Amino acid sequence: MTQRPPPPPALVAFNTALEWTAMSDPDETARGGLLAKQLIDAIPSPIAYKDIQGRYLGVNKAFEAYCGVSRDALLGKTVYDIWPKDLADGYRAADLEALQHPGAHIHPGELVYGDGSRRQVMFHRTAFSRDDGRIAGVIAIAWDVTDRLRAERDLQDELRFAEQMLDTIPSPIFFKDKNGEYRGCNRAFEEFCGLKRGDIIGKTAFDIFPRALAETYQVADKALLEKGGVQVHDAVIPAADGTNHDVIFHRAVFRKEDGGINGIIGVFWDVTEPKRAEQALRRSEERFRRIVENAPFGVRLTDQKGTIYFTNRRFAEMVHYPLDQIATLQQWRLLAYPDPAYRAEIKAVEEKELEHMLATGQTSSPVREVRVTCGDGLVRDMEVVATLDDNLVYWVFNDVTARNRAEQALREVLQAEALHDPLTALFNRRYLDQEIERDFARAARAHKPVAVVMADIDRFKSVNDAYGHDCGDRLLQTIARVLSSHIRQGDTASRYGGDEFTLVLPETTIDVARQRIQHMCDMIRDLSLSCDGKPVGAVTMSFGIAAYPRHGDTPEAVIKAADAALQDAKRAGRGRVALARTPTPDSGEKT
Ligand code: GH3
Ligand code: MG
Repeated sequence: MTQRPPPPPALVAFNTALEWTAMSDPDETARGGLLAKQLIDAIPSPIAYKDIQGRYLGVNKAFEAYCGVSRDALLGKTVYDIWPKDLADGYRAADLEALQHPGAHIHPGELVYGDGSRRQVMFHRTAFSRDDGRIAGVIAIAWDVTDRLRAERDLQDELRFAEQMLDTIPSPIFFKDKNGEYRGCNRAFEEFCGLKRGDIIGKTAFDIFPRALAETYQVADKALLEKGGVQVHDAVIPAADGTNHDVIFHRAVFRKEDGGINGIIGVFWDVTEPKRAEQALRRSEERFRRIVENAPFGVRLTDQKGTIYFTNRRFAEMVHYPLDQIATLQQWRLLAYPDPAYRAEIKAVEEKELEHMLATGQTSSPVREVRVTCGDGLVRDMEVVATLDDNLVYWVFNDVTARNRAEQALREVLQAEALHDPLTALFNRRYLDQEIERDFARAARAHKPVAVVMADIDRFKSVNDAYGHDCGDRLLQTIARVLSSHIRQGDTASRYGGDEFTLVLPETTIDVARQRIQHMCDMIRDLSLSCDGKPVGAVTMSFGIAAYPRHGDTPEAVIKAADAALQDAKRAGRGRVALARTPTPDSGEKT
């Protein structure tokens, strides 16, 4: 910044004073000389005048003060007598330059003050002449510009800092004058335009952007320059690589010191990525909302205090309540869990679950089952799982009533299968073993008898042989039906194995049993059976009867006695009923 400044007022005053000293009237001249001296002394800048040889002819007060030497001591000395050689060389060279070339010589230089400090100055030199017009010497004024230069350097630093700061801002920034010519920009703007600063400054938007876009800028600039203030608007603008960018433009006028508008500053934020991310997020949210809306399970979204934010359609359908009736957790619990004890239990469990998740950082609760009283009056089994997401809780409900029912039915079927003979549908041996224990225990408590009957089809092998196995199966089923239809409630008919059956008749004496079984035996003999249209000859069955407690204390003992009686019946010719043999004397007659 060595721009040439205008001559300082001190020089102007000095020249005027010299003019006065050159007046022809001696008195005037004397007065003029005194005035000039006073004027020169009043000037705060050091002033010296020297003869052609470089000897000091005079200095002002400021000069004396700065060099710390009195005016009288200076007179007749040269710069070499006073100043360090490097400075003295410079001063002398400048003086010679001024002596040889008339006119004002202004150049930067240095002064050393009495205290040794060096100051930056601007020297103003000019040759002066005597009355005869001959050059007589040089007047030099030193104008201290140290502070000004420092201020300029500081300003430069500030400008550089501002420029660097602008360059570090990732948003493109530009400023242009009132005519729309770019005056500056930051690196982000250069990169966005794909141009260097030098190719941008002095250009207008028409040189850089597509015409249509430049026209819109022109219109916007005009409005802004007229109204002042700040403009903020969205825009889509092409970047250097040809891609379109969504931006938010901030534009404002910048002003001169006097308040007049200097131009426009513009900043734009590239929001392409955030916008794209936002759109993607919105799309994915919509997608999830659709999934949740149509999911086959109920979803409720609440905060941790229980305020309900969202309920999907399926939930309302599942619980059969209009949404406005279950808009708060309180309402929901009152309706869904009408039993106060159960409601309190559910509330406690839910609160504990949330507490546990918050404490452990787990995001999901275990699946638990609740009985929900629904709006249609039915109580349904529902699985509930809570998922914690920040401050929100997703409650997912799954109606498992049908599943539970199916499971229960399956369990019952399996249980039935486990206890029944698949061919005849009578109870099987396993069930017999359990049931006979219970019957005996009951009988023991009630002091009642239990009759046990073992029955076996006579010569069944020959039926199989004659009519085939399938036919044998059907005969087994027919016999089973006859047996089960001729027993009373509380009696048990079971297939013992093969063609052997067992009947347990609680609270039945052996005599009553004999009568009933005899009737059964006769009925079977009288059956008219056929297989595949072919008549099957008479089928008979042999029966053996024993009783608790007469023939034994345990089911095994009584079964064994009945089986022995059955063998007796076989041996006696089949198709008959035999009673267990008379008990041994030590077992005693108990019934
Ligand atoms: P008995 O009068 O001595 O009892 O003569 P039986 O031929 O009936 O001889 P036994 O009771 O010892 O033989 C039983 C037969 O029953 C043997 C087997 O072939 C037949 N059997 C066993 N289980 C089944 C079945 O599930 N279906 C058919 N069709 N036959 C069976
Ligand atoms: Mg048999």
